[in-house]
Amino acid sequence: MAQELRIGHGFDVHRFRRGRKLILGGVEIPYDKGLAGHSDADAVLHALMDALLGAMAEGDIGTHFPDRDPAYKDIASGKLLAQVLRIMRRKRFNLVNADVTVVAERPKLSPHYLRIRKSVASLCNVAESRISVKATTTEKLGWTGQGKAVAVTAVVLLSR
Ligand code: MG
Repeated sequence: MAQELRIGHGFDVHRFRRGRKLILGGVEIPYDKGLAGHSDADAVLHALMDALLGAMAEGDIGTHFPDRDPAYKDIASGKLLAQVLRIMRRKRFNLVNADVTVVAERPKLSPHYLRIRKSVASLCNVAESRISVKATTTEKLGWTGQGKAVAVTAVVLLSR
């Protein structure tokens, strides 16, 4: 049978909150605020998971991991990603590549790109060369520009 390719897209937003750690792609980023959320609020992994689920037409993280469920309170999102990867294995999908864009005015993320890439690649069990992480600002416009929130988009390609 011919190889099947599937594209998926994910998007996530979390607002900043004092007294929380900033976790992106499973990596703690030094900053005076973190992201609010039921889990560890790792917007990078959330957007990535939604992209993976989207590519498989398997719903979204809200249906798989409801934020009313106390089991997911403050959970490391890497553990949720592991469950998404299990669905992928069951359906015989492989991750070809992922391209993640973080929209944030600050903190500056470029010094952390490599660490985030390594972490996401390791969580997904693929080579680092398959994972792209980059960031942009919105030129001080809107809630990301005013430093109120982080937005993340992710695009993935799956094959089987
Ligand atoms: Mg989220």
